[in-house]
Parts: sequence; structure tokens; C-alpha cells
Amino acid sequence: MKNLFVSILIFTLLIGCKKGNDPVESKLILEKQNEFAIVIHGGAGTILKKNLSPEKEAEYKAKLEEAIRVGYTILKNGGSSIDAVQKTINVMEDSPLFNAGKGAVFTNAGTNEHDASIMDGKTLNAGASAGTKTVRNPISLARAIMDNSPHVMLSGNGAEEFAVEQGLQIVDPSYFYTENRFQSLQKIKSNKPSSIKLDEKDAFYDSNIKDSKFGTVGCVALDKNGNLAAGTSTGGMTNKRWGRIGDTPIIGAGTYANNNTCAVSSTGWGEFFIRTVVAYDISALMEYKGLSLSEAAKKVIQKKIPDLGGDGGVIAIDKQGNMVMEFNTAGMYRATMNDLGELYIGIYNE
Ligand code: ASP
Repeated sequence: MKNLFVSILIFTLLIGCKKGNDPVESKLILEKQNEFAIVIHGGAGTILKKNLSPEKEAEYKAKLEEAIRVGYTILKNGGSSIDAVQKTINVMEDSPLFNAGKGAVFTNAGTNEHDASIMDGKTLNAGASAGTKTVRNPISLARAIMDNSPHVMLSGNGAEEFAVEQGLQIVDPSYFYTENRFQSLQKIKSNKPSSIKLDEKDAFYDSNIKDSKFGTVGCVALDKNGNLAAGTSTGGMTNKRWGRIGDTPIIGAGTYANNNTCAVSSTGWGEFFIRTVVAYDISALMEYKGLSLSEAAKKVIQKKIPDLGGDGGVIAIDKQGNMVMEFNTAGMYRATMNDLGELYIGIYNE
């Protein structure tokens, strides 16, 4: 009898929790299990309320919502997490608001060079592209590399050749031009010495890169079949040179998915995310140390990355549909939707 009473009590509490809609309870959305769910980011960095007009803030929120609803609808209709991830990222790549696809930052040479990767947690298949200049949707190229090539990562001209063969949309490089990103490059260039000597490297990074706003996009999802997927797409960092490749196309650093543990997409100062193998480290902490997703993400983002001097964040989801958005910067554009269709959107560190 007593057991029955306790069961009814727990059941009632759980139902009560599921129905919650107010902002306090929306925090619980992140900590409960979901049959399917989706999380996105639009980059982490020095994103402060005082620097964002109410109109711009509304634009970001609207685009985040539009993007996440695309993936949510795929998942709700029984579609795969890998499709949800790709299609959701496509929406953000097509928006000039984010540093991916249209709106990508400029290299030192005044070009836009894109990196992207995607991973399927069921099969551990993965695809990645680096340094492309004419592929409209780099995440779709990463997907094609995963599905239709014997390789995991293609770069530069070869990757573009493959994109043409695959019938992906190719654009003139001028498609990626946005005035504000171009001005950011001019600003950085006017601030810094024209070549970086090794002993000036730290000061250069501190003054010019650490404070620049990022805007990489990423998505992680769990589908109704229990499959996890992750993807990330970026233009990298403003003023990058020498064919610099960041963490975004590196499986295990920028993107990782494994049905046994979690799916992760990173954003931040790529060099540090490569050195700490962020996405795989979170998965490994769960697999080998038995940490929960949120414990693992905290350890990597709040301890390991800052200890080395880096900054940024991750979004992640585990096989129970627990969602995490962990960052050590002033802000991260982000959104979640759970299996009840409840939407959370955040920008600042609140
Ligand atoms: N991680 C990306 C890179 O280093 C930048 C970002 O996330 O904003 O290329």
C-alpha cells in the first residue's frame, strides 16, 4: 500500500514537471529525460546585452527559433537525428547573422573559408570539410562526404570538386560577403602588426581574437529511435591566415556523437578546443569515468579549457535526452526544444 502511494506520488510529480511552462520550470526541461530533443548554438563569445540592440536581439531569437523548429519537426515526425542536425544547420548557414555559410568571417586575404563536420552516433560515421570557398552549405558537404565518399575529411579544391560531383549548390564567393564581417576584418587589421612573431603571438591573440565575437553554428539531436547526431559549421576566426583550420571540422574536437554516451557541438577558440579534444573528452568522461553529461561538460568547459587560457562553449545531449549548454564566455546564442515542444532560447549568461 505504502509502495503504491509512493509510486503515485512520484508519477504525479513527474507529470507536474512535464507540464511546466514558466521560466523557473523551463530550467528543468534541461534536466529531464526526453524521447527526442534538439539543441542548437549560434556561437559563444563576448555577447553582452549592452552591445545588442533590442531589434538585433529579436532577429537572433527569431532565427534561432526558425532553425530549431525545422529540426524539431523532423524529429517529431519520426525523422532521423542526422537529418534534423543537417537541416537545422542549413537554416543558420543561410542567415547572415551567424559566422557560417552566408555571414562567415573574413580571412586575412579577404576571402571566406568554411569548415564543417557532422557525425552519426549510431554508426560512428562522420564527414568533414575544411577550407571551402564556394560551397553554399558546408554542412551538406560534410554530410555528402560521410554518406557518399570513402573518406571522413576533405579539404580545399578537392572538397569543392567533390561538392560539384555531388550536385551540391555552388555559389560565387561574393555570395558570402557581409559588410559587418568585412568591417570586423578591417578593424582587426588596423590594430595589429602585419606579421606575428612568435613572442607576440599571445598578445596578438589576447587583443584581437579572444574578444572578437564568434558565431559558429551547431546542432545536436536525439531522435525517436534513440539515435544521437551532432554537426557544426563555421567560417572560423576573423583574420585567419595560412590556411588555418579550427576545431569545427575535427571529429572529436568540434563535433562528436556516440549513441553510448552523447552528441556534442563546440564553439569557441578553436586552437584550445583542438588541444583539449573537447567533444570526445566529454564523451570519454561519461564512458570511462561514469560522469553525467552535465558534469562532463562542466569539467571540460569550466576547468580544462580556461586552465589552458581558452574560452567558448558546447551544446550536448545524451541518450536519455538530457540537454546541456555549457559556456565560459559572456554569452552563447542557444536554443532547446524537448519532446513536448517546449522552446527555450538564451543569449546571455543568465
Ligand atoms: N571554433 C571556431 C574556430 O575556431 C570558431 C567559433 O566557434 O566561433 O574556427
